[in-house]
Amino acid sequence: MNMTEAQHFTADGLRGTLQQNVSMRRHTSWRAGGCVERMYQPADLADLQLFLRSLPAHEPVLAVGLGSNLLVRDGGLRGTVLLMHAALKDLRIEADGSIYAQAGVAAAKLARFAANNNLRGAEFFAGIPGTVGGMLTMNAGCYGSETWSFVERVQVMTRSGELLERTARDYDIAYRSVVKRETGNGKREKHDSFHLSPFTFHQDEFFVGAWFRLQAGDGEASRQDIKALLSKRIASQPLNLPNAGSVFRNPTGDYAARLIESCGLKGKQIGGARVSEKHANFIVNMGEATATDIESLIDAVQAQVLAATGIKLQCEVRIVGDAAGGEAK
Ligand SMILES: Cc1cc2nc3c(=O)[nH]c(=O)nc-3n(C[C@H](O)[C@H](O)[C@H](O)COP(=O)(O)OP(=O)(O)OC[C@H]3O[C@@H](n4cnc5c(N)ncnc54)[C@H](O)[C@@H]3O)c2cc1C
Repeated sequence: MNMTEAQHFTADGLRGTLQQNVSMRRHTSWRAGGCVERMYQPADLADLQLFLRSLPAHEPVLAVGLGSNLLVRDGGLRGTVLLMHAALKDLRIEADGSIYAQAGVAAAKLARFAANNNLRGAEFFAGIPGTVGGMLTMNAGCYGSETWSFVERVQVMTRSGELLERTARDYDIAYRSVVKRETGNGKREKHDSFHLSPFTFHQDEFFVGAWFRLQAGDGEASRQDIKALLSKRIASQPLNLPNAGSVFRNPTGDYAARLIESCGLKGKQIGGARVSEKHANFIVNMGEATATDIESLIDAVQAQVLAATGIKLQCEVRIVGDAAGGEAK
């Protein structure tokens, strides 16, 4: 980036951190993948707003939380990643009893905060290694609970830096899917990068906070539930190796893990990526896996399950960026 280009990204008064050519290996739980051209860590909400207002309009922007559901291809990402978890960490009880959590708050912290305030229902967040922003985007859930069941309203920031509030009625919300509803001009807006081509991972809006409504309860019972839930996860998931949780969504009435296992794919390996023996819907990085290894294994599993069962598994993890060598896949 030459000096003139750099000036586009450094408006007066910005207090956050701008880095160039940052490896996304450090920012994704798979510990694999390419670099992003620019990464901005805002200092707080006002700083994020100033940054977005100062960005060139054509700059693609992607919000990233803890990268626990994200694969960045080895050719990397053009544009700017907004790293939400280092800032945007406000977490408080409002006067009306709801919990306000900013997008960068870790799910586990939200679970503990709710329990410590004798609020029930948020225990399941404890096992999800992401942020509030990532959970809102994914409608993350487990053990019969889902994020949006507890959301009263969300705070979003548009690409041009406008701060708005929305409710669940503004989105089509389903299993691991949150899509912004049609607007007046009849267009269906895609809130997330999943539906966009790898070259244009541009997001129009970002989640910056949410108000959660939970039932009054017994904090000690919630803490016990969290403990039990974490033990269950340790027993059933390969948490000792880098992974991104469940790779595929469960098809209606079945489990992706059951289908993958029934095809004899546990232990299948491409390069450094392997289908976990402990949980067939997890792909683990055995050490030096590239994003290409991981994506090739995802494709191979999908093809073999389709051939054997007629069911096409859909990816839950978000795959963005250019293939190695710089070509969009
Ligand atoms: C061991 C393990 C277990 C897991 N278990 C579960 C589980 O039980 N249930 C479950 O649902 N998931 C699970 N996951 C997956 C993952 O933790 C969730 O999807 C989580 O919600 C992702 O949050 P994140 O902050 O890491 O998001 P990231 O991976 O950083 O991002 C995911 C997507 O959200 C977008 N995004 C992130 N923040 C924002 C924002 N502020 N505004 C707009 N878009 C944003 C990104 O652009 C990307 O498209 C698991 C993952 C691991 C590694």
